[in-house]
Amino acid sequence: MAKKKIVIIGGGIAGLCACLKLAHQGYEVTLIEKASVVGGKIRTLLAGSSLVDSGPTVFTMRWVFEELFRECDENFSQLITTSPLPVLARHFWGKEQLDLFADQELSAKAIEEFSGKKQADLFLEFCRVSKKVYDSLESAYIRASRPTLPSMMSQLGLSGTKTLMGIGPFKNLWQSLGKYFPDPRLQQLFGRYATYCGSSPFLAPATLMLISHVEMAGVWSIQNGMTQLPKTIAQLAQARGANICCDSEVKRIVLSGDTVSHIELSTGEIIAADAVIFNGDVAALRHGLLGDALKSALPAMSTVPSLSAVTWSVEAPSNQFNLSHHNVFFDQNYASEFTDIFEQNQLPTKPTVYLCAQSRTHSEQLAEATEKILLLVNAPANGNQPPSSKEIESCQQKVFQLLGKSGFQIDPSTWKVVRTTPQNFHQLFPATGGALYGMATHGWMSSFQRPSSISNIKNLFLAGGSVHPGPGVPMAALSGRLAAATLMERLPLIR
Ligand SMILES: Cc1cc2nc3c(=O)[nH]c(=O)nc-3n(C[C@H](O)[C@H](O)[C@H](O)COP(=O)(O)OP(=O)(O)OC[C@H]3O[C@@H](n4cnc5c(N)ncnc54)[C@H](O)[C@@H]3O)c2cc1C
Repeated sequence: MAKKKIVIIGGGIAGLCACLKLAHQGYEVTLIEKASVVGGKIRTLLAGSSLVDSGPTVFTMRWVFEELFRECDENFSQLITTSPLPVLARHFWGKEQLDLFADQELSAKAIEEFSGKKQADLFLEFCRVSKKVYDSLESAYIRASRPTLPSMMSQLGLSGTKTLMGIGPFKNLWQSLGKYFPDPRLQQLFGRYATYCGSSPFLAPATLMLISHVEMAGVWSIQNGMTQLPKTIAQLAQARGANICCDSEVKRIVLSGDTVSHIELSTGEIIAADAVIFNGDVAALRHGLLGDALKSALPAMSTVPSLSAVTWSVEAPSNQFNLSHHNVFFDQNYASEFTDIFEQNQLPTKPTVYLCAQSRTHSEQLAEATEKILLLVNAPANGNQPPSSKEIESCQQKVFQLLGKSGFQIDPSTWKVVRTTPQNFHQLFPATGGALYGMATHGWMSSFQRPSSISNIKNLFLAGGSVHPGPGVPMAALSGRLAAATLMERLPLIR
């Protein structure tokens, strides 16, 4: 009896997790990736002679991968070496500085010194509430395959509903944070977590406070960098017979009647498929990039694209400045960053700067002559418009000035830099405008508007950061597992 033939379009983390799961179950899987390596947004860039992690750097929710590996009879920690980071992130406001720690009591102590006892107590209260929100939503929303508001409410039960009602679910995150963080610097720090799913804290629902719990539950660094994750998953899938083809682009998904029949590569090659999992951004389907017939794969609705970014992947002379692994440099008037991006469609005039000092994982002191750095500034997803290098140059100046205010003086002439703009991201992830996290999570209903793994087209499934449960490495991985599970339910292994 013939096995079911599955084609996965895209070797992002979701596509790879689905690939491993299906290959392990015995499906005949072919994964097509247009880049020369798998990983998608998880990628390195060569700056000088250093390979710099230039996509995600904050690795959380390790349990998602532990579960996936266990289901495939593998042991995550034997294959991927991770170490927990004692300092979650170092935050700078000019010369002021605050560390958040994996140990909550240490964070509370640091906050007490930074902002007083009352603020430290309120922080601990916030930790309790955000954990409750996370615990309530993990099974009712994050792990659910197709959550709707009624299904979620019924799963939450009385105590979960009470928890959600308590945070004011119809308020935006910023307003809700006001209750716990009278110190505006801390409101800014915890508001920033909305940007992890590409959204503005001033428009995102209060439920997104669960992201801060995710980070406080643990951040790990991966030995030899984030790309070990996609590389290892691809190897495991290949060992189970999956065929992974890089440097190949899918041009069209072709239907026979209302069902997927095959895919066509840009070379003209045809690959038959009983089912397809699409791991690109769903915007590509909406825009008809995979064929006009695919425009109806998703319900028609207007969506706001999430944040894009400008990133600088850097090999720099080692600096004495006291960076931790993850660092955030804040400016004043936080609201202006999001007005600039979401209303003015321009780079922020007062950007927040994220800096990942990748060579400082185990020690903040450096033995080498050079170090690896990734800088990231949020940007509007306008990468489908012609680039304005003047705007980007001016943003770069502001980044250096902001770092300088905290005492991190940079001589750009000594840096070897590869810059990535929204235009570059738009080319890498077609139809997105450079949006890196699918649609923005703005408004309390937005979390239910993300497509699920099931499309309107028979045997076309969806996986990735633009579908439920949302963006971020572990969440996209969960979407890959959900897509594989739905596919297995609908197309059992043997004909
Ligand atoms: C700069 C940056 C920083 C980030 N920071 C973090 C972080 O710290 N922590 C975190 O958890 N998350 C972070 N994220 C988000 C996280 O990286 C993503 O949510 C996640 O990796 C998305 O995975 P995905 O499965 O959606 O696939 P993607 O990574 O979007 O990959 C999709 C793949 O599909 C391929 N593809 C698309 N169309 C076709 C086609 N027609 N034919 C063939 N191939 C195709 C693309 O080439 C791509 O490789 C960051 C993202 C970026 C860009």
